[in-house]
Amino acid sequence: MASQADRGRFSVAGQAVLVSGASRGIGYAIAAGFVDAGASVVITGRDGATLAEAARRLAAGGGTARAVVCDVSDPAAVERAVAGALAATGHIDTLVNCAGVNRRQPAETFTPEDYDLILDINLRGAFLVSQAVGRHMIGRGSGNQINIDSVNSHTPLARVAPYAMSKAGMNMMTRALAYEWGPHGVRVNGVAPGAILTDLTRKVWDRPEMQAWMLEATPLQRLGTPEDIVGATLFLASPAAAYVTGHTIRVDGGLPAGINWPIG
Ligand code: NDP
Repeated sequence: MASQADRGRFSVAGQAVLVSGASRGIGYAIAAGFVDAGASVVITGRDGATLAEAARRLAAGGGTARAVVCDVSDPAAVERAVAGALAATGHIDTLVNCAGVNRRQPAETFTPEDYDLILDINLRGAFLVSQAVGRHMIGRGSGNQINIDSVNSHTPLARVAPYAMSKAGMNMMTRALAYEWGPHGVRVNGVAPGAILTDLTRKVWDRPEMQAWMLEATPLQRLGTPEDIVGATLFLASPAAAYVTGHTIRVDGGLPAGINWPIG
């Protein structure tokens, strides 16, 4: 049985948490995980109606969840959203950068507009949110940020070149900000999900041959769920991770641990 001290060590109760891209999928599951653990959350997304409904569901059990509409690729919107979150909660203990999009097509066919859309949201947007929240955390001398990157940060899958580039950039952002902000008491880490079934990926994993390939390549032999990402995220936000920064935890069923081959 866990002792009282152990429970405190892993607790995020009472934290004020901002999760970008949390109206559905992984971001929503992370926000729900924080609310269940006694934190208050502010969630962002572009679509106001879905976001408001997500906040209502998050708060249904008696927790605190607020919705702030924000397109992370818009610098002015990011400044307004972070100011709005701070006005509501007074401070931010944890930021989770989760907003992200993808397009799947041969590298030579991406238009400059496709490229900009993906990089502006996944990388530039995350950096803008990190900066705005980082200034506040530096002023306070404490806080932690968690970036949701990807298995593609290290091992690019075919047909998602700009996405993989954005996620590799996010991984470097994690390390660069951890290095710069550690002296200010701010930790920056990442969580790298593998194949998680969400709206972003459903079209791919609905294809039987794609799902069969993924299960074959994944030691734990299943697709992940958004809830699979929650534990690592809560750990990184908790006092148990007080000496962890600049690190990314892979939550991917062991996908890049090795290469399967038909040896029998
Ligand atoms: P979903 O498409 O299910 O959810 C994405 C969320 O981000 C939505 O709430 C969406 O709301 C929001 N969002 C998208 N663009 C913006 C924007 N410009 N500004 C603010 N919010 C935005 O995706 P997942 O839950 O699958 O993915 C979440 C994160 O996890 C992404 O960064 C993704 O790259 C990463 N990831 C996912 C994996 C997977 O297998 N699913 C694997 C590895 C990483 P709205 O559209 O209303 O803005």
